[in-house]
Amino acid sequence: MSVIEKPSETSEAPTIPSFRALILEDHDFQRRIGVQILRHCGASSVQEAADGATALALVKAASQPIDVMLCDVNMPGMDGLAFLRHIAEQGSTSSVILASALDASIIRSAEIMAKSYGIRLVGVVEKPLSRDKLMPLLLRHFSQNVVAHRAAVEPMPLEEIKRGIRDKQFEPFFQPKVDIRSGTLVGVEALLRWRHPEAGLVPPAFFVSVMEREGLISPVTFTLIEGALTHSRRWRDLGLDVPIAINISVESLSDTSLPDRLEDLTKVAGLTPSALTLEVTETVAMTDLGRSLETLARCRIKGFDLSIDDYGTGFSSMQQLTRLPLSELKIDQSFVTGAAGQPVLEALIETSVMMAKRLHLKTIAEGVESSEDWNVVSRLGCDAAQGYLVAKPMPGEQLADWYQGWMKNHAGA
Ligand code: C2E
Ligand code: CA
Repeated sequence: MSVIEKPSETSEAPTIPSFRALILEDHDFQRRIGVQILRHCGASSVQEAADGATALALVKAASQPIDVMLCDVNMPGMDGLAFLRHIAEQGSTSSVILASALDASIIRSAEIMAKSYGIRLVGVVEKPLSRDKLMPLLLRHFSQNVVAHRAAVEPMPLEEIKRGIRDKQFEPFFQPKVDIRSGTLVGVEALLRWRHPEAGLVPPAFFVSVMEREGLISPVTFTLIEGALTHSRRWRDLGLDVPIAINISVESLSDTSLPDRLEDLTKVAGLTPSALTLEVTETVAMTDLGRSLETLARCRIKGFDLSIDDYGTGFSSMQQLTRLPLSELKIDQSFVTGAAGQPVLEALIETSVMMAKRLHLKTIAEGVESSEDWNVVSRLGCDAAQGYLVAKPMPGEQLADWYQGWMKNHAGA
């Protein structure tokens, strides 16, 4: 199973292994340029098609899977949109990069369409193509293949998960949240990892949904919080005094004794509720509304902070702002990663930040992967950033060393 994740990879220079590519582009000259650029970026073979039907035939005839498809959207005959639908129906696992000069709102729809068909969409490159534009997307393709793709994962078997819980193989990793102006650490998010004896480090996509379905997530969350608070005490001894954010599932929210149990845990660790921030998604907070609101309001009264997670991805984001007792808003990574030069995404971030400010909520941009992402969220007024540019989730023991290096390299930059 290829789910092994290398912890904290931020300092490594990115390299691209050779890959097989296909380019779908009706314009002859642009297609020839595209082939050259793909080869220059490390493609070992590049198949060419001037329309969707030809591309589809090439995909079907290919003896080995194509790793990356560079796909124009608009062309005579079968266009890029129909081509993507067909390859999705065939269960394609290729990564797709859209290349287009079309209006941003059309491209945005094409992106969402591709994702909802289950296509592994890496991003969009604006035409004319260049190596500088394509390279960051290829790097993203290869990094996404290190960590298994969210939509494509097969959950681990229930019995194995239960065994993992019994053998205490689940632990928190921590991802920093930093202040955008000063670079200082303002919090960490605890993210579950399974240290599997054979598969290595397994990310939550392989087990959280099963735990939620089988009523296992609450006990695991409590174990995670205990582990996280132990790290918190150690960090405090080293002068790092930051809240830890915990992801809370719907099952835990329906338990109205959650606030008391959380308070007990913080007390036992010698800390106060300000040591924990609860992250809930919009959808989670909509299930069993009465109980969820009772639990969340009591948590806030006791002094825990409350963050709305993946903001903007639910069906009633604004309505949730009116009824949840929030202190923080996390703008979902799908709006942040690659937002530079995308007017729709920039507008969305800007509006979310404006609204959060009016409601006296802090804003955190998730999925800040590049300096371009950082500059956008900084310009649009976000308070804090979280993402691979800052650091990947890491074991608690590495946080203090990471922070020392981060401040040396980035403070004041
Ligand atoms: P989430 O709460 O939205 O967490 C953020 C996810 O984005 C994490 O994935 C993190 O590693 C990833 N991420 C952070 N920065 C970047 C970036 O710059 N680019 C990209 N592409 N991804 C980034 P992870 O750790 O795989 O967790 C996935 C989801 O699993 C979390 O999404 C959360 O919903 C769930 N999860 C994790 N730990 C727990 C837990 O203890 N309890 C519950 N209920 N859910 C958890
Ligand atoms: Ca979260």
